[in-house]
Amino acid sequence: MPIQSDAFASLRIFDHPLIQHKLSIVRDRATGPADFRRLLNEIAGLMTYEVSRRFDTRPVRVTTPLEETECRQLDRPVTLVPILRAGLSMTDGVLQLFPEARVGHIGIRRDESTHRPVFYYAKLPHDVRDGYAIVIDPMLATGGSACAAIRYLRDAGCRDIQMICLVAAPEGVQRVHDEHPDVMIHCAALDRELDGNAYIRPGLGDAGDRVFGTLEG
Ligand code: URA
Repeated sequence: MPIQSDAFASLRIFDHPLIQHKLSIVRDRATGPADFRRLLNEIAGLMTYEVSRRFDTRPVRVTTPLEETECRQLDRPVTLVPILRAGLSMTDGVLQLFPEARVGHIGIRRDESTHRPVFYYAKLPHDVRDGYAIVIDPMLATGGSACAAIRYLRDAGCRDIQMICLVAAPEGVQRVHDEHPDVMIHCAALDRELDGNAYIRPGLGDAGDRVFGTLEG
């Protein structure tokens, strides 16, 4: 079970030893893209179990090889919504546990001078409003991209939205909480702060660059 953050009512932190072990390797600057990607997906998979805990189910009749019986199936569709591009790095991990989920994409990049989100792409299932939406972005930094993505989903009619990230900054959690208090945020760590370049400290650097091997220098 994740622990409820003392500081933020809508934040759950996964203090599970396995997740913390994997996060320590992810944070290490010596970890290359292949291990980085694998570990992010493994952590996302471990989180999925808890994130889906409150999903509604409905009774269904199933015929086993021996007799008919009542089982339960998820009642509403689930849409994963990775924020491009770093959000892709945790999506396969969720899909491994939950292959029936659909994947919508939202493209938001950060303007490097203003640090403000710039929206450039969105593609969602036509019935996204009928089910659960899970926004995925490994770094919740200023909260600008997360809030823009959540706003887009709300405008598309989504009412049940959660967010999965790896590392969160207090500033980002506060902003999402202020703008969308009903959105539960699941993370592996609540870090100390944002620096002047809007990087999370101690953080792990630029997640997108580390996932896709596009680091400069
Ligand atoms: N995005 C990242 O990839 N890393 C940070 O520290 C902040 C935003």
